[in-house]
Amino acid sequence: MTGQPLDQIPIDRLTGVGPKMKARLADLGIESVQDLLFHLPYRYEDRTRITPIGQAFFGDCVQVQGEIVDSGVQFGRRRSFRCVVSDGSGMLSIRFYHFNAMQQNRLANGKLIRCYGEVRYGRSGIEMYHPEYRILSGEAEADAVPDSLTPVYPTTEGIHQGRIRKLVQQALQMLARTEKLPELLPAHFLRDFGGIDLAESVRLLHEPPADVQLDWSGRTDNSPARRRLAFEELLAHRICMRRLKLDVSALQSPRLSGRQELLKRFVEGLPFRLTEAQRKVYREIRADLSGRTPMMRLVQGDVGSGKTVVAALAALYAIESGFQVCLMAPTEILAEQHLHTFRQWFESLDVRIGWLSGKTRAKARKQVLEDLSAGNCDLLIGTHAVFQESVQYQRLGLIVVDEQHRFGVHQRLALREKAGSGSMRPHQLVMTATPIPRTLAMSAYADLDCSVIDELPPGRTPVNTAMTSNERRAQVVERIASACGGGRQAYWVCTLIDDSETLQAQAAEATAEQLREALPGIRVGLVHGRLKPAEKAEVMDNFKQGEIQLLVATTVIEVGVDVPNASLMVIENPERLGLAQLHQLRGRVGRGAEQSHCLLLYQPPLSELSRERLRIIRESNDGFLIAEEDLRLRGPGQLLGTRQTGLMSFRVADISRDSDMLEQVRDTCDELLASHPAVAEPLIRRWLGESSHYADV
Ligand code: ADP
Ligand code: MG
Repeated sequence: MTGQPLDQIPIDRLTGVGPKMKARLADLGIESVQDLLFHLPYRYEDRTRITPIGQAFFGDCVQVQGEIVDSGVQFGRRRSFRCVVSDGSGMLSIRFYHFNAMQQNRLANGKLIRCYGEVRYGRSGIEMYHPEYRILSGEAEADAVPDSLTPVYPTTEGIHQGRIRKLVQQALQMLARTEKLPELLPAHFLRDFGGIDLAESVRLLHEPPADVQLDWSGRTDNSPARRRLAFEELLAHRICMRRLKLDVSALQSPRLSGRQELLKRFVEGLPFRLTEAQRKVYREIRADLSGRTPMMRLVQGDVGSGKTVVAALAALYAIESGFQVCLMAPTEILAEQHLHTFRQWFESLDVRIGWLSGKTRAKARKQVLEDLSAGNCDLLIGTHAVFQESVQYQRLGLIVVDEQHRFGVHQRLALREKAGSGSMRPHQLVMTATPIPRTLAMSAYADLDCSVIDELPPGRTPVNTAMTSNERRAQVVERIASACGGGRQAYWVCTLIDDSETLQAQAAEATAEQLREALPGIRVGLVHGRLKPAEKAEVMDNFKQGEIQLLVATTVIEVGVDVPNASLMVIENPERLGLAQLHQLRGRVGRGAEQSHCLLLYQPPLSELSRERLRIIRESNDGFLIAEEDLRLRGPGQLLGTRQTGLMSFRVADISRDSDMLEQVRDTCDELLASHPAVAEPLIRRWLGESSHYADV
């Protein structure tokens, strides 16, 4: 076997990786065997146990096993294939909306099947939609369960979980044989981690023993393996950002010096007065924009504090100074909404606005690109498509990124890379909806300066938040009927632990179907991540126009959507979401003059911790306080699904669970850069992969 270190061994050395797979893995940032080993699971599934169906409850993710006692195609609003599984303790239906003949044949009566999935209420009692399943061939197989937790990896189109798992197994075997995983950190930085070695830590993260949950369910996760890796990862991020900050201060930027005439007209035309906080933050931004080095500023503000208008002020200032501006939002829905808002605001100011998303047709796209390079477009609004290679600006002066926490640090780095040439860089303004506790900001945004809009526009009535048990679902539905009957509009938000868009979409579809049946007089719309952008825009538009009275949605509506007439929101299974996310969602109501309500429709029984978390949401409307509490309380129960709620996309670190390490990370970073500068590069490459070269801007 080879003696090469694993970061030198290309991934196609593994069996089963051909050119196609190689390309797909490259999309995930995996090029070497080391990259694969550091492609860590973001959650685990416990398949070491089989749950009796009689003990499987709504909302649980469980593994069940039983005999198929009935199966067939069902016709309803949507055709589906259903199998009834029985294990003696109870019955459960598994349902497929996408299925083929082969699958139907395999799932025949009498077969023994094992399924893993989330338990939902469906047409026939408890159901699982599109579970992962396996037909078992005999007793021996029926008794066998894995003895470690099943890892779930971040993946991409065309690579199944099973495939990644097998590849990781190969890589782990190679690791066991060669032990060529370079330890980068000097030993004295690792003394707090019980001497656990790097290779062993990596192995444990990929295949944790079944009882590890016990170790990891405490308030702080003390598993030395995870902590050790988290420390290294946080350090890599911090080093990367420190270097960026240093690099940025050596760059030049256009010095903007607009006369603020358009700006004045704009402010005078607004239907409201700017708050003092908005003015203050704008002044901070303007000071940066007039400077010699690129602005790198983060604007924080609670939901509804009016960040958009601040972005508009900054944009106008840049445009008036003769530069182009680009505004980027993380979702199609949000980007479209900004387009709409800015068109309205800038209509009489002769600002030329362009639109670009990944779905923009070739012809329109060509036109926009031409306008941009010829300087015939002042403001480009869109999704991250606005930063594709082919987009050439004539004089880009300012980039605004909205709802930043949806973009990982990777995108931020890429953006910076693509945004300029030579030593000239445009200014950057980053806006985040989620207030960030100080410790966190220190780590996640170490490369940015920070402004806070610490005041809400006047006249807002705080949203009234209440908790309702799912057992009283019928009353909640009635409440919707009466709100919509009275001319108001409502949201119904479906949540799912699984972060697959397909499953989320299916769950939302099923809920919409139920609600349509229960509310025949109400016009129900549905929006989720699997809709085409045009479809999504149409639904949102219909909701805005009041054509749709009740909007059933997945958490895609979490960010930024602004429909003031909506005054009621039901959030199903709020216990599954992070507090910051709940606060964000709730911020979609309470935007008009009407008293708004948010109903947290939870599934009893709630754990002590869930109860405590929901209490905070119910009692507070203050995003900063909620963020602090979130940080304090997160940890237990967060082993599953940390990724979704995170502010940054870490592989193993969890900024809230590991917040106690942040100061040590900061100090170690300084020490390392001073005494072991050569470690920086390979460390960044290991954890931030490809984007390491962004550090050398
Ligand atoms: P967020 O900070 O959550 O992005 P938005 O920018 O979407 O908030 O603003 C929320 C709503 O408040 C919008 O309808 C906006 O027009 C309105 N708004 C913004 N600033 C003010 C203000 N100073 N006075 C009154 N309404 C305002
Ligand atoms: Mg916003």
